[in-house]
Amino acid sequence: MTPADGTTDAPTDEPAGTAAATAAARAGGTRPVEDGFTRLEPQTGTGLTLLAGQTLTVLDPTGGQVSDLFCLAADDHGEWLSSGRSIDYGNTVYFTAGHTLWSNRSRPMLTITQDSCGRHDFLLTPCSQQTFDLLYPQLGGAPHPSCFENLCRALAPLGVAPDQIGTTLNVFMNVWTEPSGELHIDPPTSVAGDRFAVRAEMDLHVGVTACSAEKSNGGVCKPIDYAVS
Ligand SMILES: [Zn+2]
Repeated sequence: MTPADGTTDAPTDEPAGTAAATAAARAGGTRPVEDGFTRLEPQTGTGLTLLAGQTLTVLDPTGGQVSDLFCLAADDHGEWLSSGRSIDYGNTVYFTAGHTLWSNRSRPMLTITQDSCGRHDFLLTPCSQQTFDLLYPQLGGAPHPSCFENLCRALAPLGVAPDQIGTTLNVFMNVWTEPSGELHIDPPTSVAGDRFAVRAEMDLHVGVTACSAEKSNGGVCKPIDYAVS
């Protein structure tokens, strides 16, 4: 995901009480790691093999934290998760339970089976060093952790080259558009314990991150938990 702007407007579509819960989560508590889950420390990522029929669950243990997700066919990295085909065939830029995520070859890669948050998009690429260089010139080009770098590092042992990593599904990211098409990125609406699960429809190599961009994560980068079952 890319922090396209620095707006800090409060989300306006939250159910009553959610804002308070989000604030409480940001103020301190991070949930302990649940049985079967592994914790990604802030601004890190991992790579894994997900066999057809297995489920990957991404859990936000603190609330307000984005996770980038990308995958490729395990037996042929020329087949990869296509934001464009998923948006086209699903007729949506937001994805939730019941939606299929498609490959560039128009085959189902993942089916979303659980979503307790309700806000995930496929619009923006993973944050990268260049993202920070271009959008935050005040950082002076200083090295900054990024989802892209973390995905490259995590997927390299599985034989994935950097140029094979495309647009990620932005789990828990809170992106919305003006009628003009202008994009806004607000703090995620996810609260501690929110989870998002996908079932593999083919054998996959998958990369998952705890996003590194402060402005996409309410100002503080936090951990992400995941589990394969
Ligand atoms: Zn990121």
